[in-house]
Amino acid sequence: MKITNLHTHVLEAALAEPFAYSRAWYGTRMAMIVEIETDAGITGWGECYGPAWMTEAVVKNIAPWLIGADPLQSEVIWQDIYARFRDHGQKGLLIEGLSGIDIALWDIKGKHFGAPVHQLMGGPLRTEVQAYATGLYRRASGDPFRYLPEEAAGYVAEGFKAVKLKVGFGVAEDAAITRAVREAIGPDVALMVDANHAYDAVAAIKLGRMIEPFDIGWFEEPVPPEDLAGYRAVRSALSIPIAGGECEFTRFGFREVLTSGAMDIIQPDTCAAGGLSECKKIADMAAAFGVRYNPHVWGTGIGLAASLQLMAVLPTHTPTSLAPAHPIFEFDRTEHPIRQAILQEPIEHTGGTVRVPQGPGLGIEIDRQALTRFKAGSDAPAGRRRAPPSH
Ligand SMILES: [Mg+2]
Repeated sequence: MKITNLHTHVLEAALAEPFAYSRAWYGTRMAMIVEIETDAGITGWGECYGPAWMTEAVVKNIAPWLIGADPLQSEVIWQDIYARFRDHGQKGLLIEGLSGIDIALWDIKGKHFGAPVHQLMGGPLRTEVQAYATGLYRRASGDPFRYLPEEAAGYVAEGFKAVKLKVGFGVAEDAAITRAVREAIGPDVALMVDANHAYDAVAAIKLGRMIEPFDIGWFEEPVPPEDLAGYRAVRSALSIPIAGGECEFTRFGFREVLTSGAMDIIQPDTCAAGGLSECKKIADMAAAFGVRYNPHVWGTGIGLAASLQLMAVLPTHTPTSLAPAHPIFEFDRTEHPIRQAILQEPIEHTGGTVRVPQGPGLGIEIDRQALTRFKAGSDAPAGRRRAPPSH
C-alpha cells in the first residue's frame, strides 16, 4: 500500500454566543483536518490542534515526503519527519502538524487490518471511559455568579460526575466563583479548576490555598508551561493535585516534566503532542513515574475518537488498587458547530460515560458534506483569518 494524496481541510464556524477563558475570547471555532488517500482505496483521517491556517501550512509542506510511502510504516514516517525538522520543530506547530498525519496513518492501519486502533495497540483495557464536562467559561453578558453555578448544575443533571471550571480572572473572584460552583454541584461531584497559565507561582499558590477547602480534583495550568520551577513551587505548596501539559510536546518535552517532578497529572493533547504513536510512549513514561495521564481534548469528532482510542490502552493510574483509578475523558461541552457535524454517528455520553468507538481505525465515518459546509473561506477577512489562540 502506498500513500497517493494528502488533503487538508480548514473548517470554521461562527458561534451564536462568544465565550472567554482567561487568555482570550472565542467568537468562532476552527479545525484543521488531515485526509490521507492510498492506492488501496483506504482513506485515513486526522486532526491537528492549534492555529488552523498555520498547522495547515505545516502539513502541506510535509505532504510531498509522504507521497509513495507505505502508510503502515507509521513509526518510520514519524521518525523521518521529526528528524528532517529536528533543528526547527521540536515543539509547537511542526509537532501539531505531525500529530494530525500520525492519527490519519493509524486510521488507515486500522481500516487495512479491519480492527480499531486500540486493538492494534494491544487493548482494550477498557471499552468505555468516564467523562468530565469542560465548560463554565465566561460570557459577554450576565452575572457569572449566577450563570456558572446554573451551568454546572446542568452538567450534573445530565449525569456528569465531574466538571471543570475556568479560573484565571483574579484570585479573589476565582475563589468566590469556585465556592459558588461547589455549592451548586454538592459534595459528591468532582470539581477541577483550570487557569490556562494565567498566574505566576505566587498568585497560583494564593488561589490554591483559598480553594483547598472546596475539595478540588486538580488545579490545571496554574503557571506558564515553560515555568517548570513554578509548577514545582505550586505543587509543593498545595495539597491539590497539579495538572498541565496541553502546551507540551513529544516524549522529549514530557521527559523534563516528569524528571523534574513538576506535575501530578499530565494532559498531552493527542492532536498536538505527537499523535497516537507519541502519546502512547508519553503515557508509558508517565506510568513509570507514577504520574497520572488524562488527555487534553479540544477538537472535532476526529480528535475525540483519536483520544478515546488512546484512552482504551492507557495504563490504570494505580494498577494494584481495587478502587477505580482509570483515566478520565475531557468532554468539551461548549458550542462547537463542527464537532459532531463531521461525524456520521455522533460521539455522545450516557450519564457521563463515553464508549470507545469499536469500528476499524478511529471507528468513525466522516460526513463529507459537513467538510464542504464548514470550509473556511480563502477570502475570509484578515481579522477572521487570525485564528484565536488555542485554549
Ligand atoms: Mg486546559
